[in-house]
Amino acid sequence: MGGYLDQDAPAPPTGPTAPAETAEAWHPFQSRTEFDFAYHHYVKAESSASEIQTQLDFWSAICAPLGSTPRWQNEKDMYRTIDKVQVGGVPWHVYKIRYQGPIPANSPPKWMTQAYELCVRDARAVVHEQLRSSDFKDQISYLPYRHFNHHGKRVFSNLMSGEWAWQQANTIAEDPETHGSMFVPIVAGSDKTTVSVASGHQEYHPVYMSPGNLTNTARRGHGSAVLPVAFLPIPRAKRRQREKPEFKRFCRQLYHEALRITFAPLAAHMITPDIVKCPDGHFRRAIYGLGPYIADYPEQVWLSAVVSNWCPKCDAKPSDLDSPDATRRSREKTDAYCSRLETKVLWTDFGIRDDYRPFMHSFPRADIHQLLAPDLLHQVIKGTFKDHVVEWVNQYILLEYGRVEGEAIIDDIDRRISAVPPFPGLRRFPDGRDFHQWTGDDSKALMKVYLPAIAGYVPSDMVKCLRAFLEFCYTARRNSISADDLTRLQASLDDFHHYRQVFIETGVRMDTISLPRQHALSHYIRSITLFGSPNGLCSSITESKHIVAVKKPWRRSSRYHALSQMLTINLRIDKLRAAREVFAQRGMMEGTTASYEHFILSGGVPAPPAPPPQAEDPDDDDESPIAGPKVLSSIELARRRAFGYPRYLAQVTDHVGHPRLPELIQRFLYDQLNPNCSDDEPPPLHRCPTFSGRVDIFHSAVARFWSPSDFSGIGGMRRERIRSHPNWRGEYDRRDTVFIDTNADESGMRGMMVGRVFLFFSFKYDTTTYRCALIQWMVPAGDRPDEDTGLWVVRPEFLNGRANLAVISLDSISRAAHLIGTYGRAPIPEDLEFHQSLDAFRAFYVNRYVDHHSHEFLQGDE
Ligand SMILES: [Zn+2]
Repeated sequence: MGGYLDQDAPAPPTGPTAPAETAEAWHPFQSRTEFDFAYHHYVKAESSASEIQTQLDFWSAICAPLGSTPRWQNEKDMYRTIDKVQVGGVPWHVYKIRYQGPIPANSPPKWMTQAYELCVRDARAVVHEQLRSSDFKDQISYLPYRHFNHHGKRVFSNLMSGEWAWQQANTIAEDPETHGSMFVPIVAGSDKTTVSVASGHQEYHPVYMSPGNLTNTARRGHGSAVLPVAFLPIPRAKRRQREKPEFKRFCRQLYHEALRITFAPLAAHMITPDIVKCPDGHFRRAIYGLGPYIADYPEQVWLSAVVSNWCPKCDAKPSDLDSPDATRRSREKTDAYCSRLETKVLWTDFGIRDDYRPFMHSFPRADIHQLLAPDLLHQVIKGTFKDHVVEWVNQYILLEYGRVEGEAIIDDIDRRISAVPPFPGLRRFPDGRDFHQWTGDDSKALMKVYLPAIAGYVPSDMVKCLRAFLEFCYTARRNSISADDLTRLQASLDDFHHYRQVFIETGVRMDTISLPRQHALSHYIRSITLFGSPNGLCSSITESKHIVAVKKPWRRSSRYHALSQMLTINLRIDKLRAAREVFAQRGMMEGTTASYEHFILSGGVPAPPAPPPQAEDPDDDDESPIAGPKVLSSIELARRRAFGYPRYLAQVTDHVGHPRLPELIQRFLYDQLNPNCSDDEPPPLHRCPTFSGRVDIFHSAVARFWSPSDFSGIGGMRRERIRSHPNWRGEYDRRDTVFIDTNADESGMRGMMVGRVFLFFSFKYDTTTYRCALIQWMVPAGDRPDEDTGLWVVRPEFLNGRANLAVISLDSISRAAHLIGTYGRAPIPEDLEFHQSLDAFRAFYVNRYVDHHSHEFLQGDE
């Protein structure tokens, strides 16, 4: 089984290879050009057969005068080469499963006699494939860990930071047979998905898996962190048969049998160690274990063998799910009840079905009641927020104001939502809300701007209820959650439960609120201590996987017996990805295709320099994740100065229409040159340095910061562009708002001010270049956030009737701030455009829900 290595021992070499400059090195391709061609068309561009054919024809035409021909005559030739790639890709197999129960002698229904196909691949080989990738070398924990923040509080983030992995690893360590092995939890998820065809819909039921040792950001951001391992059979029956208990039971049994077969290859190595190659190149002994399982509520009901409308995690009665008297379910309890009690009692008193046993309970140490993962997408975002709270608020408005006025108010709420100022990453709702085709992303987008929109139209308790929910949601969605956050999470949930009574009091809900998806929130705190942050286990991960694993391959198939074609497409993509990684490790993917081939042709003289990276497009790049590791936050001006401005301060001042600019620059310079001067009174102007030289104007600045809870790069970094543009997209004057650090000793809004940027510019004084912003201060209204919304309110500041402007150093800006007008009780004008918002209102909410970074950033407020 191998001995122990020294901690610092180097990894073994990655395997014998031909020298990079020989054709064999590219096997089964003959050159970099061939590989790049295949990779580009198959993986990146997803070209159709006819597109590939056209490109091969071009290639042939270019080769003709040279007397040569391309490697491939047609796309099928190319596919044959890809199929010969030896690395990557685990092949698929088909299992046939049949009904095993009693079959009536006379004309049995078809579902009893038919064979069902389970498409599956070796789960063990899939984990090996995932763990082998060196992409994950900084994104993996080989051991469970307990992480504490600088206040000494436990922090839960990745799966391996939770108590469950810790306890599992302890159990493994206690057994002499498995002692010293690395624990590899298998995170799995399954979810039905539909592709539409002209003749109706085609359903698929993929199962995905991911090694739980990977970080949440890797699981959410990297293509091979989560891979399909099975497509479950979906039995069909005639309408008359569909409602029969035997058929329903069979469907569930088939489902569990298929899942048992899927994970069976791991079972032996849940007890005796397997040998796996890890991202750092080392081989380790591994013990597998089934880990958190990602599924929506209907599938959770199937997985845990509970009766519909019951909770799969506790025994609360369906009529009072949030009851404090409920106790947790467990595998042992369920088995004990099933061995002692009658089917009918199990069903009515405990919500347990005993006509099948959860597949997970055939595997060591696995308890489905515990392992069902929290599901932010269905329970929090689509369930509690969209289907419940938003729906109830609308019902309240119609009940309270009557149909005609109520609908007018709902329309105004839509207009308020459309009127929010633009912000990086904020989706616009140009025509208000349209609930057809509503997606999880739409709900997330609505959540960012909904609270200020209903304030004024609904009772204070309803606003507080929404706010408590948003606090819960934004805290639960964080990438790392501290023990203090858990306390806050519990407080938000208690507040939410308290304030949601308003929906009963106002007659929106009849008597109690007892809804399985909403109830699931009560189990979050325990799940987070067990499994870390829910955002590494959310069904949005499996849903987005559907696009690459099911929807795109389906579109590339001929649609006839599509599944086997889809599996082939997935397999080829995996092979090409793996081959690319091997080539890259050998230094064979340097430069562009052409620069590399020139380099080889010239016998290894230096390759022509790679083309410079594409210049940033200053118009369209509002925000993006950044690849690479966590680094300090920064802010810088756009790469290019804006054109069409005069060069010297006096003319610039006239051009931009801010006559006080020269004076404000003088005061800025005084502060810069006298950093320790703490005069409360500003110095007389004649004591300030004068400046009249060249000024460069910029239309934007870029802030970079660490924000792993938002959509960010694999290291959690993110960038956003802040704009101050006189004619944005040729349509309007856009002057964004920002947070300005004013007091490093205070947290949240108490250590910051908000400002609206009227100009980004730089100039040189003496020998120093200053990068600056001309801003109008926006001051807090009051010394605490608004009572109902919990949001700070700011007002643009005026002194003696004119805007209070200042020139500040760019470095004092931390990032963009999102402001939303305080709408009050009056409808907003029909023709108010979103870009007029910042000029149209006298006061603004500082929106802490616009993204996770803002939410954490403004934490210190309460
Ligand atoms: Zn429960």
